[in-house]
Amino acid sequence: MSSESNERIEIPEGVTRALVVTAHPDDVDFGAGGTVMALVKAGVQVTFCICTDGDAGGFDDSTDRSEIPAIRRAEQVAAAAVYGVTDVRFLGYKDGYLEPSHDVQRDIVRVMRQVQPQLVITQSPERNWERLPASHPDHMAAGEATSRALYPAVRNPYAYPELRDNEGLEAWTVNWLWLQGHTEPNHWVDTTEFFEAHASQTSHMENLEDMLRSWGEMQAAAAEFETGRLAEAFRQIKLPD
Ligand SMILES: [Zn+2]
Repeated sequence: MSSESNERIEIPEGVTRALVVTAHPDDVDFGAGGTVMALVKAGVQVTFCICTDGDAGGFDDSTDRSEIPAIRRAEQVAAAAVYGVTDVRFLGYKDGYLEPSHDVQRDIVRVMRQVQPQLVITQSPERNWERLPASHPDHMAAGEATSRALYPAVRNPYAYPELRDNEGLEAWTVNWLWLQGHTEPNHWVDTTEFFEAHASQTSHMENLEDMLRSWGEMQAAAAEFETGRLAEAFRQIKLPD
């Protein structure tokens, strides 16, 4: 194994702010956690935007369901801090019911205009039959709503005019999109050095560390990185100027 290339992340020129939009509080752990750490280490300011509260899963019956959103939000804020991310926005939609509606699109456009990222990372809006859990309907909805927000709404001052009229949020053009869980990745981030810190986020799930490691190895092999390296894979799209 080569020791020269400890870091390998190709960040498009001009990217100083990145926005990660996911459906559920823990989605970033599955396929983008190491990448977020690499971005932060490279000096990129990262914001998380989480569409649902993840209130449909992860607890036994002894927990009052009404408490779950607050618990999940607190967990995510703590997890984000481990990634070096202190700005976490919650849209508060109901877990399991997310749709790329105009309400969701407008809420994402609002966050994009507030944060003004050059790079957006989200979940693939296309179903991946090889990795169906990546294509949970909420994930595809988050990816679709984000894609629609990116083009054209966020850059069109006349889309959702209330954002401009009532909140003073001007149009903003995002340059790059990275989709996680896509069937045809074309951009890989070497996440080897971040694996331990990242895997510690998922210790509550048995065998998950092994699963994440084997995914990472598969992606690194696809990227033709040296044996022993780990990677996360994205479909990178250059958005129109
Ligand atoms: Zn999820």
